[in-house]
Amino acid sequence: MTGYAKYSFWLETAGEDLSPRPALFRSTEVDVAILGAGYSGLWTAYYLLLQDPGLRVAVVEKEIAGFGASGRNGGWCSPKFPVTPAVLEERHGREATRSLLLAMYDTVDEVGRVCEEEHLDAHFHKGGSLSLARGAHQLPAIRAARAVYERLGLGDRNTLLTGEETRERVNVSDVYGALYTPQSARIHPGRLVRGLAHAIERRGGTIYEQTEVLSFEGGAAPRLLTPAGELRARQGIVLAGEAYLSRLRSLHRAVMPVYSLIVLTEPLTPGQWSRIGWQNQETISSNRLTVDYLTRTADGRILFGSRGAPYVFASKISDEQDRHEITHSSARRAVVDWFPPLEGIGFTHAWGGPLGMPRDWMPAVAFDLVTRIGTARGYTGQGVATTNLAGRILANLILGRSTGLETLPLAQRRSRNWETEPLRWLAVRYMQQALARIDEAAENGRARPIDAPIAELLGRH
Ligand SMILES: Cc1cc2nc3c(=O)[nH]c(=O)nc-3n(C[C@H](O)[C@H](O)[C@H](O)COP(=O)(O)OP(=O)(O)OC[C@H]3O[C@@H](n4cnc5c(N)ncnc54)[C@H](O)[C@@H]3O)c2cc1C
Repeated sequence: MTGYAKYSFWLETAGEDLSPRPALFRSTEVDVAILGAGYSGLWTAYYLLLQDPGLRVAVVEKEIAGFGASGRNGGWCSPKFPVTPAVLEERHGREATRSLLLAMYDTVDEVGRVCEEEHLDAHFHKGGSLSLARGAHQLPAIRAARAVYERLGLGDRNTLLTGEETRERVNVSDVYGALYTPQSARIHPGRLVRGLAHAIERRGGTIYEQTEVLSFEGGAAPRLLTPAGELRARQGIVLAGEAYLSRLRSLHRAVMPVYSLIVLTEPLTPGQWSRIGWQNQETISSNRLTVDYLTRTADGRILFGSRGAPYVFASKISDEQDRHEITHSSARRAVVDWFPPLEGIGFTHAWGGPLGMPRDWMPAVAFDLVTRIGTARGYTGQGVATTNLAGRILANLILGRSTGLETLPLAQRRSRNWETEPLRWLAVRYMQQALARIDEAAENGRARPIDAPIAELLGRH
């Protein structure tokens, strides 16, 4: 097993030794060249090859397939979109919002379908999702969310559960109710991303690993430039590097890296599971502004994820940021707070990684017919399912085909750039602290901080 296994439990248990594939060693030409072997790049390659098996498609990856967020995430394959339905409706209207959300429900099933068809043992399990009200103060959030779904005609896919009904599913402390979405799944992220890479190779695609794209050019001769030469692409290039795109000069302010961190328990005993329930293995979160997400793994562990690691000046990304003891310790404490019978439980893994956040939190999936540059980015931590939708949209845009997905609000758009430093650092650090203060005040029954309306307005998504 190579050193890449240390980046997450998922890579460690992906079922292969993670030896890098050969790097690009000289200039060459293909039809479509893709930067990044995470879900975005791989789904795009997959659907291109599915629609046109003769196409020459190459993916160029700086490390190995799944090195980024795709090999480290919380395993939620969820129809949840980074921008809330309420804000989507405000920005794009009822019909476009409804179409997007329906496409997201279908996307969860599409991921499951491909896992089956390609024999990807990615532990896909459609157990639904629970958005909990932990504390009475979180009840208004789930009721408001439900009212929006109702207005959009999607009430039957999002039902409110009482505290008791929720506890019958999973015995979490301090639960007052939940919004239940059946159309949501859990996956093993490492097995999905590594399996997809193999599926692409079986279909004739090429993946170059340990090859960094230093820059790119569009126009008459689109290409990716690497230390060993250039990868020319007759039909176009795709930039699918998510948070890491901020390292390319021209995209430095297009996405901001935000770290999400995870802890993992040892496998629970049957006795512990019988006290907790969680037999349907739903993915679970509360309604904290500072984000938490829980997953029951196929081998019976609890994964607890949270944001909270501080943003680092100038959008720096480094291995050191994958571990932040304050955030990891608080996640370990949270597991026992959520599940008191687990007092004394052991934790075997802690990791993290950067997700890509655009200025308006809205993913952008675009292909420019003039520059022949495509991109899929900005999933704001909700990319496991969304990348599949993005891959299908990009394949259509590149091949000039239409299935209607290309008119969804995430297609053919871009977000405005983040502010320059030090403004970016000041604003993001302020927001991170303000949202944490609002959560703490609500949890401790204290008055809302005086700046809460400003912070909530800035963080609206
Ligand atoms: C800790 C964590 C938990 C998350 N949990 C969830 C979850 O439970 N559910 C959910 O829906 N989403 C979750 N997300 C978000 C989700 O994982 C991402 O949105 C998704 O994986 C993005 O896929 P991607 O392919 O666009 O990017 P990545 O997976 O980040 O892939 C980008 C790839 O591009 C490569 N690359 C970048 N720059 C270059 C370059 N110059 N040259 C060559 N290669 C390059 C990188 O090495 C990387 O492999 C989480 C993210 C994190 C970090």
